[in-house]
Amino acid sequence: MSKCKSSESVKVVIRCRPSNRKEETGSSGGGIVEMDVRLGQVVLRNPRAPLTEPRKTFTFDAVYDASSKQRDLYDEAVRPLIDSVLEGFNGTIFAYGQTGTGKTYTMQGAWLDPEKRGVIPNAFDHIFTHISRSQSDRQYLVQASYLEIYLEEIRDLLDPNHAHARALELRENPESGVYVRDLTSCVCKSVKEIEEVMNVGNQARSVGATDMNDHSSRSHTLFLITVECSQPGPDGRKHIRVGRLNLVDLAGSERQAKTGVRGERLKEAAKINLSLSALGNVISALADGRSGHVPYRDSKLTRLLQDSLGGNAKTVMVATLGPASPHYEETLTTLRYANRAKNIQNQPRVNEDPKDALLREFQSEIARLRAQLNHRKGRDKHRKEEGDGESWDGEGGEELDGAEEEVEKEGREYVKQQEQRLEQEKEAIREDHSLLAEEKQRLLGEKEKMMGNLRKEQEATEQLTAKYKAMESKLLVGGKNIMDHTNEQQKMLEIRRQEIAEQTRREREMQQQVLVRDEETLELKETFSSLQQEVEAKTKKLKKLYAKLQCVKAEIQDVNDEHVRSRQELEQTQNELTRELKFKYLIIENFIPPEEKNKIMNRLTFDTEEDQWKFQPLVPAESKFSKMKKRPTSAVGYKRAISQFARVAISMGAHSRYKAENIMFLELDVTPPTPLPLDRPPGDQPEDSPSQDSPQRERAARVRKSRSWCQAPRTITSSSSNISLATHTTTTPTAAQ
Ligand code: ADP
Ligand code: MG
Repeated sequence: MSKCKSSESVKVVIRCRPSNRKEETGSSGGGIVEMDVRLGQVVLRNPRAPLTEPRKTFTFDAVYDASSKQRDLYDEAVRPLIDSVLEGFNGTIFAYGQTGTGKTYTMQGAWLDPEKRGVIPNAFDHIFTHISRSQSDRQYLVQASYLEIYLEEIRDLLDPNHAHARALELRENPESGVYVRDLTSCVCKSVKEIEEVMNVGNQARSVGATDMNDHSSRSHTLFLITVECSQPGPDGRKHIRVGRLNLVDLAGSERQAKTGVRGERLKEAAKINLSLSALGNVISALADGRSGHVPYRDSKLTRLLQDSLGGNAKTVMVATLGPASPHYEETLTTLRYANRAKNIQNQPRVNEDPKDALLREFQSEIARLRAQLNHRKGRDKHRKEEGDGESWDGEGGEELDGAEEEVEKEGREYVKQQEQRLEQEKEAIREDHSLLAEEKQRLLGEKEKMMGNLRKEQEATEQLTAKYKAMESKLLVGGKNIMDHTNEQQKMLEIRRQEIAEQTRREREMQQQVLVRDEETLELKETFSSLQQEVEAKTKKLKKLYAKLQCVKAEIQDVNDEHVRSRQELEQTQNELTRELKFKYLIIENFIPPEEKNKIMNRLTFDTEEDQWKFQPLVPAESKFSKMKKRPTSAVGYKRAISQFARVAISMGAHSRYKAENIMFLELDVTPPTPLPLDRPPGDQPEDSPSQDSPQRERAARVRKSRSWCQAPRTITSSSSNISLATHTTTTPTAAQ
């Protein structure tokens, strides 16, 4: 799988945008950034420091000043990277900088103006032009995905209802590294198609106005292009190489106070700053090289860029600056960030024959469809040769390399011929007077059926051909425009441009080396003719070294200041978050019952893969349906579950509906009470009302009071004690009276 394993550092280029109208008319005190394009140096002036203070100088792989062209940046910094992606390497270009300094302009630019097209549209042209010019034995498959990280959640920008969709999850696999699960991926056949994908995604992107930029990007966006290329190797087998290109436009690293954001925007800014400081920590850890632990897991952004920073990828970082003095601190921070990133070492390698290559799947599916079509064509041929339309089981296994159009055309002709023949036969049957009417009908029916079959067969072939064509059209084959003269000239022009860019780059590198060496060898060359001269030279050197010392001291001070500033900012964010947390606790304590809270707490589990807490579903996924599907045993054969008593009652023919529910009589007792003389002496009682009957009578009356309102009392000799009780209650009072 790996090839050309070597280490190379992250390329860092700086771009400074021209002053905008606000800066030109305002009293910002002129520009603070000077650029030496030839040497690749940026000199930064502190507007608040005295003029004697030495300026800060940073050296990079290339620098682009306000007058730089989009095309120059592309040819020099990006083109070699895209070429590597087309060879099967992973590549990343990311734009970093303060809001409003031209990240989006550099990455996208103005699409309609050829002079102002940014890295992304130029890369589209580059990829598809390369494919059309490559050799004809190569097959390509290009896919595009678009996502954004908004408030630390990954959203699919190509999902039509992405605003309401669930946040996507990050997964890792040893072969392709970190990837986003269930991310939409569109197969693109041309520049137009991939531009359409980009447009759809751009419309869904989260942007909002801040004081510094009317269309400030409020999220980090990543446009991912996967180019799979299949090419026959020396062993005669087709090998697939997969290059992945990440085009990253980061959200601005603004200071919250400057952008004048509040509320939701402030929350966004806090998250943006947090993920950018996580990115800064990763860069520092990698550049330092001594710390073993790199905190990739601190944010979604750093996990997504894991391969691009210190892993299997070639990376270009474009750091953008604004020229105005009010943003001195941010500009300095950006330059330091970029300066650190220069030291990151990556290990890019060609991704060869990965298991999950979509191109392989496409190729095998196309081969299967082709075999099916060949089979059909062979069968038709066989039938034709036999000259018998009724034989349907001919085998046609021969390999046909004719185009599918031919198969289709021949098939159509064949069907037409057969239809004509069947029509003639039908006519002959109709005119044949020797046949019985019934026999004629049967024969005609048979012919009709045969025609139906023939048409169905033809339809199936057409569907198969359409599917085959659609699949094949997705694969791009090289060598189509190779003979085109204009193209040839254009290609030459591009090669020349590339050569010039390469030349410039090498020249710059050499200049930088010369500069370093000059300083080193200066003292070696010096020979002194007199003591006085030596003193002079040494004083000069001392002064130089003193100036250097001052520079380093100032640098230490700056780093400290920056540290304090970012700490203050983090503290502020922490305070905000603590306040919010307290507020949420308050709500929980006062409005959520403790048992509900416990229930929720019990459902929480920690997902180590995602590094975050998650809720367990209320019903376990597998038992959810099986539980619902099973009917209770007492309901089998009935509409609903039913009791044993109701079943007995139904079998006896009584109205079962109420028996199961109410078994007592609840009618009012209207029997007049029997007066008992209180003054009668004991033992002087009437014969018909013995005193021992009194409690019995009372009990009977009490029971009678609860007679069911819906049932007429009847004598039922049932096993049920309830029914016999009802019978008993009706008889007892009568006996008593
Ligand atoms: P960011 O994405 O960094 O927040 P933008 O790319 O949106 O900033 O740029 C802010 C404004 O500056 C835009 O109007 C853009 O056209 C302009 N701009 C940025 N860089 C350049 C440049 N190099 N040349 C001309 N205009 C630029
Ligand atoms: Mg932007």
